[in-house]
Amino acid sequence: MTEQPLKFVIVGGGTAGWMAAAALAHALKGRVGEIELVESDEIGTVGVGEATIPPIQFLNSLLGIDEIDFVKKTQATFKLGIEFRDWRRLGHSYIHPFGPIGMAIEGVGFHHYWGRLRRHGDTSDICDYAMSAVAARKGKFVIAPSELPPGVPPLAYAYHFDAGLYARFLRDYAEKRGVRRTEGKIVEVKQRQSDGFIEAVELEGGKRIEGDFFIDCSGFRGLLIEQTLKSGYEDWTHWLPCDRALAVPCESVAPLTPYTRSTARTAGWQWRIPLQHRTGNGYVYSSPFISDDEAAATLMANLDGAPRAEPRLLRFVTGRRKQAWNKNVVALGLASGFMEPLESTSIHLIQTGVMRLISLLPTRNHDPAAVEEYNRLSKLEYEQIRDFIVLHYRATERDDSELWRYCRRMALPDSLTHKIELFRERGKVARFDDQLFAEPSWVSVFLGQGVEPRDYDRLADVPPLADVQRALANVRDKMNHIADRLLTHDEFIARHCKADPI
Ligand code: FAD
Repeated sequence: MTEQPLKFVIVGGGTAGWMAAAALAHALKGRVGEIELVESDEIGTVGVGEATIPPIQFLNSLLGIDEIDFVKKTQATFKLGIEFRDWRRLGHSYIHPFGPIGMAIEGVGFHHYWGRLRRHGDTSDICDYAMSAVAARKGKFVIAPSELPPGVPPLAYAYHFDAGLYARFLRDYAEKRGVRRTEGKIVEVKQRQSDGFIEAVELEGGKRIEGDFFIDCSGFRGLLIEQTLKSGYEDWTHWLPCDRALAVPCESVAPLTPYTRSTARTAGWQWRIPLQHRTGNGYVYSSPFISDDEAAATLMANLDGAPRAEPRLLRFVTGRRKQAWNKNVVALGLASGFMEPLESTSIHLIQTGVMRLISLLPTRNHDPAAVEEYNRLSKLEYEQIRDFIVLHYRATERDDSELWRYCRRMALPDSLTHKIELFRERGKVARFDDQLFAEPSWVSVFLGQGVEPRDYDRLADVPPLADVQRALANVRDKMNHIADRLLTHDEFIARHCKADPI
């Protein structure tokens, strides 16, 4: 006998809620019952979260989203990586580019050959061999592989978009596919007496919404997962001490840089996210080391366009929900945990959470093995991203403020200590299963932050030195040549995906 399909209730209509609604409605059509999303206009959304990483393209492609339409409707620009200014030391800058750096030769990572040339006096930057970094520095962009010479892989890229317009875009998508939206403020969460599973939420005014499975996308408050089910939270503030952010939009200034900028400041860092209609800015900081007023003054003094609003304060505790799936509730987005947006990973974590939920689809008879696997993978994913973010803080030469002095001394997670030691001694990146950030990402941040390997893979010594020198010079020249011939990012947008002014 076929099981009666489950009714899903999504609590929250921010980026997480509408991403979940769109993905479930599309991927599970016919396999689930009704999907109902509840959101409160009065409470609203967090309203930030505008820089992404390349895997978002998998989601767009799964949903069958037309890229140009998406870019226009969300006032998006393209992102080839992140520029880190003043992170290693004041005045220093490097790029963490998306996509490959060079190419493996005879199975040996490219950076080992680069390391060998360094020993022979070569002064090139590792990012001179990353197409995304070369294009980013020149402000160039292209999508179509047909506009690149044969054999050159397409540029790896993601998007910057307006968070409100993105949620709106996904809402239209989900509603067209049958998702029911209910506006209202949830004031009660009802649990079954027998086992504590959630059976309904009740809105102001008395309306009751029942469901079989609940997705908690209610933001930092974690209405179901924490306030009701008390799933627990692992606090990582000792590794990532920033606990507040001030966000402010400003007028857009030309040219539109095809990358996010992160500038380290005395008590944290400032983001700059260029969109077509405005630039998003924010200062992520550690409140024990700076007052809100001082942080606001720093942020406002470092905008490159006229501010379009007053700065908005957001408070957070970095860490993860101990059980992201508890009983018949999965938490997604800010309800599942928070890591600062230094590597733009939160929206990605929503995406992987939804995909994991779809692949371990809940059933009526509640399968503990599926729950355990979901939670195991969520924990692993969070910890791997955490280590990557902590690396930026720890591997710094800065000692000009209390925050940076604290970061240079702080104890690290064992997993990261091993990674840093292995890279420093051997130039090797310790990789773990299913890790989001691939070797080139770790290499660019290690080197960018000043973790220089003492040695390189001896297999890189096999080809004659002159051959290696020639090969690397060719790669560099070719990338420069290709980038020079591309449209600028502004030209690309004007020609292919200019959004209507708003
Ligand atoms: P929210 O946007 O807070 O939505 C919560 C929803 O729940 C709302 O619709 C609200 O109305 C509803 N709700 C809550 N309580 C009730 C109730 N009682 N009744 C009914 N409805 C209710 N991520 C990135 O990937 N890239 C970035 O660049 C980035 N930058 C960030 C910068 C900052 C400072 C912060 C704090 C986060 C950033 N993030 C970033 C994270 C990103 O903003 C979030 O992952 C994303 O917006 C998802 O938020 P959400 O949907 O979980 O929560």
